[in-house]
Amino acid sequence: MGLSGIDELHAAFLGESRTSENVKGSVQETPSEPKAPQSFDMTAIDKTADPCTDFYQYACGNWQKNNPIPPDQVRWGEFTELRERTSWLLYKELEEAAQPNATRTPLEQKYGDFYAACMDSALADKKGVTPLQPTLDAINALNDKKQLGALLGALEIKDGTGGLFMFGVGQDQKDSTMQIAQADQGGLGLPDRDYYLAQTPRQQKIREEYVAHMTRTFELAGDTPEKAASEAQAVMSIETALAQGSMSRTDRRDPAKRYHMMPLADLEKLTPDFDWQSYLHGIDMGSFQNLDVVSPGFFTAMNAQISGQSLEAWKSYLRWRALHGAARWLSEPLVQENFKFYGTTLQGQQEQTPRWKRCTLATDNALGEAVGQDWVKKYFTPEKKENTLKLVTALEAALHQDIEQLPWMSEETKKKALEKLALIRNKIGYPEHWRDYSTLEVKRDDLLGNMNRATIFEDRRNLRKLGKPVDETEWQMTPPTVNAYYMPPMNDINFPAGILQPPFYDFSKDAAVNFGGIGVVIGHEMTHGFDDQGSKYDGRGNVVEWQTPADRKAFTERTDCEAKEYGNFEAVPGVKLNGNLTLGENTADNGGLRLAYLALTDTLAKEAAPPQIDGYTPSQRFFIAYGQLWCENVREESARNSALVDPHSPGRWRVNGAVQNFDEFGKAFSCKKGAPMYPENSCRVW
Ligand SMILES: [Zn+2]
Repeated sequence: MGLSGIDELHAAFLGESRTSENVKGSVQETPSEPKAPQSFDMTAIDKTADPCTDFYQYACGNWQKNNPIPPDQVRWGEFTELRERTSWLLYKELEEAAQPNATRTPLEQKYGDFYAACMDSALADKKGVTPLQPTLDAINALNDKKQLGALLGALEIKDGTGGLFMFGVGQDQKDSTMQIAQADQGGLGLPDRDYYLAQTPRQQKIREEYVAHMTRTFELAGDTPEKAASEAQAVMSIETALAQGSMSRTDRRDPAKRYHMMPLADLEKLTPDFDWQSYLHGIDMGSFQNLDVVSPGFFTAMNAQISGQSLEAWKSYLRWRALHGAARWLSEPLVQENFKFYGTTLQGQQEQTPRWKRCTLATDNALGEAVGQDWVKKYFTPEKKENTLKLVTALEAALHQDIEQLPWMSEETKKKALEKLALIRNKIGYPEHWRDYSTLEVKRDDLLGNMNRATIFEDRRNLRKLGKPVDETEWQMTPPTVNAYYMPPMNDINFPAGILQPPFYDFSKDAAVNFGGIGVVIGHEMTHGFDDQGSKYDGRGNVVEWQTPADRKAFTERTDCEAKEYGNFEAVPGVKLNGNLTLGENTADNGGLRLAYLALTDTLAKEAAPPQIDGYTPSQRFFIAYGQLWCENVREESARNSALVDPHSPGRWRVNGAVQNFDEFGKAFSCKKGAPMYPENSCRVW
């Protein structure tokens, strides 16, 4: 599987990333229009709560009470409401484009047919597992472990089936203008290595259920119960060893731990039982001398498994990777089986996601810059872009001011920080150039083929970057995406059109509400450039220390304070948050809130605002608007999963953690010093 698309661990997102992995199901129905979420929702507020004791309860208490989680969701919040709404708007476009009439534009024809093929569940049911048969046959024909490299390469680039590890092209962290080969860990069916390693009863039970799920899937693919059971055991054995060799998510946040440049010959020495030459030839990779082996321990573990496990065990493993990757696009029994484990067991999802939502998301994933092109014409105006840019400029001025006034940073380091700030590239709404999908073949009667060709298209697009200049205009998210990101090697902040809607952004509302919404989001992404991870890169995207040793020490003391603080918050009863995994996001939330407040103060000094609206001062409206972005209800299973894998804190702590670290909050709500949300001592980085 290539690194094409975004490496989740290399980018700092605003919210949880949208993987199609946990979207399953196929109930056909005509969806009704979901309601549009509001910026600053008076009905969400719980006035019986004391904002100084538990601000999240105050801002969101009634929302939580009145908005139970829909059965096809695992997390339901103002954020997901906007996603639902955006997904529905896209669905309307796709439904129309799917009608095979002669007036369709070439773009409409492409994404309309892609969507139509995806929606054809009757055909998928009729075909059963046959669309995957050529891949399964190729795996079955493997008769020597020495041919594993050749087979993996062929599967990846011909069938779009990836699996054992990640291989692709990305920016060199020491020289961000260079595009280099990178090999990284991968190949696991559970969400994280800790799912294999943790000895808690919960994880042991999940592992048992995973083996049972694999067994049933093998049976659905036609294997006898005995064969299926032994195949599942073999896969579990290989995956557990790969997990043991993998780096933790927390370690992966440190660029130094991800960087191991070596000649290809050294990787070959590290993995003498894997034929890299055949693999690289198979994926049609251009020639190179050195590559970054991101996670060397993984490749050592991989080699031990290649030499130690039988040919049959490896065939079972590859067979599983193929079935696992394709299951949600095959016939209903496989779709259901996949949903039951990945939706219900792992995340507590009660019902399958309706097929129209799965197919809308899949089309956006595969052809996002085609669908998005037409979508932004309808839903994103030049005025919105201009207004957002004004906000970005206001936030940049606030960060400038904040850096200049930082009490703990030397003048020398401040100069460097300001240089980095000046180099941040702002990307708003959608890309300047649209991706050209003309070589991606879409067939109305070939669902799995379309999905695989889209994967191959992205893989090839990624591999072709080797040795080429970096395209600074490229986006890693599609225009309708309700999210935002900062990329350290690019030093850019990116706000897709999808997030520039209520509750984040509503220009019919007062400045306080918009600064508390999209203003904090902009500040959040900017602060990522200066969090524990981003601060290790300079303004040109290179990993370089630009702080003096004393400043770095002071910085680390401050981030340690936050890591400890958030590490004491409970994710779910009995489970504390991982303060180091969530450190970057928490720093960004804290910085974003402070910067947006500064920018609001500057704006209000220039433009008069009414002293109160709906009974709240501008400052109070700012904090309430912020708090309400993260109103949410989450299923317990999903919350437990997030505690292990999500770098973001749960909504409650994104809100209460940030306001309790910011004295202006206590002042705005006239809290007594020492109240939980206005403590005597708090943490501050930026
Ligand atoms: Zn973030």
